[in-house]
Amino acid sequence: KAKEQGGRRVEVFAAHMHTDVVRRLELAADLQRALTEGQFAIEYQPIVDIATSRVTAVEALVRWWRGSTFVPPEHFLGPAEDTGLIVPLSEWILRQACREVAAWRASSWDIGLSLNLSARQINAPRFVETVKSALEESGLPPSALTLEVIEEMLVEDAEDTIAKLSGLRALGVRLAIDDFGTGYASLALLRQLPVDMIKVDPSFVSGLGHDEALTLLTRTIVRLGHDLGLIAVAEGIERPEQLELLKEMGCTKGQGYLVARPMAAPGVAALMRTNLSGLSGAELAGVPSA
Ligand code: C2E
Ligand code: MG
Ligand code: MG
Ligand code: MG
Repeated sequence: KAKEQGGRRVEVFAAHMHTDVVRRLELAADLQRALTEGQFAIEYQPIVDIATSRVTAVEALVRWWRGSTFVPPEHFLGPAEDTGLIVPLSEWILRQACREVAAWRASSWDIGLSLNLSARQINAPRFVETVKSALEESGLPPSALTLEVIEEMLVEDAEDTIAKLSGLRALGVRLAIDDFGTGYASLALLRQLPVDMIKVDPSFVSGLGHDEALTLLTRTIVRLGHDLGLIAVAEGIERPEQLELLKEMGCTKGQGYLVARPMAAPGVAALMRTNLSGLSGAELAGVPSA
């Protein structure tokens, strides 16, 4: 009887593994189909100059509606990376976002584009050429493009990655370290890679005003950036007191639901019209600007 139970237990376990494998295979197939059928979309989250509340750039964020279900990036980016599908997907995002931002710039709106890179995308053989051709085809000036990397991307093939990114920077493209302070190599990375910007992770910003240690850490990161001549962008600003403290700390730029949520292209175009006529991003979000 015990053997029977044990056997059944193994069966149950194996069934779990089976569904897990099947689910992953289905996801991989769905991702492939999503790409060929054009199910991916881009949303843009405004990045504002904290002192003036003006929108100076937008960060492109990929979106996937699998049928009527929204799949968050963290659920499909890993599998896309594993299957290699991230390479064509990232190229589509790059070209599409460059085109859209170039069009907004053509309406005399001086905004930049921030793009998240993936490790596999950088390691792909034609990465540098692809970025160059996206810039040329769209007419987006290199200085209007910021490429965001996270520390983990420089663990494997670090030399190759640094060479490619430095090469692009030599063309005028800007580099940012995303999720700054959460990895284990933040400071080492600043020595190896010529970056222009650090993005202060929301895990620090969230504690502003009520958590002493996090407030101190945020202040330290902002000051570090300032001392190194880098632009600090605070991410995940959700409450007015966070924005006030960041302003007081001298943090140059900010991003978060308080200022503006990620939005589809028509939303950005509407924002552009109000921005050009003098309204600020914060006013748009219903927050009185100083
Ligand atoms: P990230 O680059 O750090 O992007 C910021 C994330 O924070 C976005 O999540 C954004 O929607 C969210 N966010 C912005 N403001 C707030 C706020 O005030 N509060 C909170 N709680 N969240 C806020 P999202 O769009 O789900 O993206 C998650 C991550 O997926 C990104 O983190 C980035 O690492 C990755 N990702 C997104 N789009 C792309 C892409 O096109 N390519 C690649 N390679 N990665 C991407
Ligand atoms: Mg980012
Ligand atoms: Mg981030
Ligand atoms: Mg992140």
